[in-house]
Amino acid sequence: MAASAATNPAAAPILPGATLGVLGSGQLGKMFAMAAARLGYRVHVYAPEHDAPAADVAYRQTVGSFDDEAAVAEFAQSVDVVTLEFENISAAAIETAAKFAPVRPGGRVLHTTQERLREKGFLRAAGIPCTPFAEATTKEQLAAALAELGLPAVLKTAAWGYDGKGQALVRSASEAEAAHAALNGAAAILEGWVDFECEVSMLAARSANGEETFFGPIANDHAHHILDVSVYPQPRVARLFEDARKIAQAVVRELDVVGLLCVEFFLTRDGRLLVNEIAPRPHNSGHLTIDACNCSQFEQQVRAVCGLPLGSFETIVPAAAMANLLGDVWANGEPRWEKVLADPQLRLHLYGKTEARPGRKMGHLTAIAGSAEEAVALVREGREALMGR
Ligand code: AMP
Repeated sequence: MAASAATNPAAAPILPGATLGVLGSGQLGKMFAMAAARLGYRVHVYAPEHDAPAADVAYRQTVGSFDDEAAVAEFAQSVDVVTLEFENISAAAIETAAKFAPVRPGGRVLHTTQERLREKGFLRAAGIPCTPFAEATTKEQLAAALAELGLPAVLKTAAWGYDGKGQALVRSASEAEAAHAALNGAAAILEGWVDFECEVSMLAARSANGEETFFGPIANDHAHHILDVSVYPQPRVARLFEDARKIAQAVVRELDVVGLLCVEFFLTRDGRLLVNEIAPRPHNSGHLTIDACNCSQFEQQVRAVCGLPLGSFETIVPAAAMANLLGDVWANGEPRWEKVLADPQLRLHLYGKTEARPGRKMGHLTAIAGSAEEAVALVREGREALMGR
């Protein structure tokens, strides 16, 4: 175990019966709360939204703004530890919470990962291979970045981006200038276009006492910049385990993370793993661990932030694939639930969101099968069947 400020091998664990606080109350918070409840914890969620998925299963919910210092303080005083389920939370809210309860992962982790320039700067400084990038906030920086990185390239807002929002593929200098103008002076990053073979992700859990465990690489397919299908173990990428594990380990140690973190990579056509993004929380690509592993990514997050022994990520099925169910699945009316519920190889997970907007993550479907190929085919067919196709 590496020496660190956030971990302490001798610290007493937070035992079942305690109350765990979660900043954010979406589906990741919901699945965390389910895992926590199974282990006998109570969960108190804090988020601005009413009608939030995690509130369905949490013991307590506070609806409040992350800028409301008094409300965040009151929340933190009511829990034994604070964790989070999304990273766009202000540094001020984290600082306030940290006065009353340990925040895991801590403020520096969030500060680094919630802004692409800081995130990539951290990776570069730590010697971790990542997508080539340069700052492109001003016109001068954009011109210099284009000269350095070439075309095509991807222009992204540095802050608050997710699922491809706030980013544009640029193929010419004039496209780059137009995309840049649309950002209205917001801090921006230009990334070199990576001609990747596929995208993969690696989960890392690091507990309050410094124990670590890893899962992956998971192979991920995106559609319209949103994760579509994940599969494990994908034979083509399984051989990358040791390379991906080492990088994920360097990330959690350098950032001094306590909790669950996901590293997303591009696998280049010449076989290199380049980090694209880091999420200091459970990740959509890790949802298949619920049905495929001894211990899910959500239970690992519970164990990690409580300082319990970490669980085993060992798989209990030969292969699993996960397909997201976006609001689009509702396009032809109520999905044909009976089609997937009748199939013992399919597991349906719905987040309880009331409004099915196109592109909105409403749930996911996991298929378990004898091989990755079979699992992917099954999960895609299952999703089609939901839509009556
Ligand atoms: P991001 O929000 O940065 O994860 O980007 C969303 C998706 O856009 C990624 O999963 C990739 O499919 C694609 N993408 C983003 N950046 C690049 C890049 N530099 N080169 C190639 N594809 C990219």
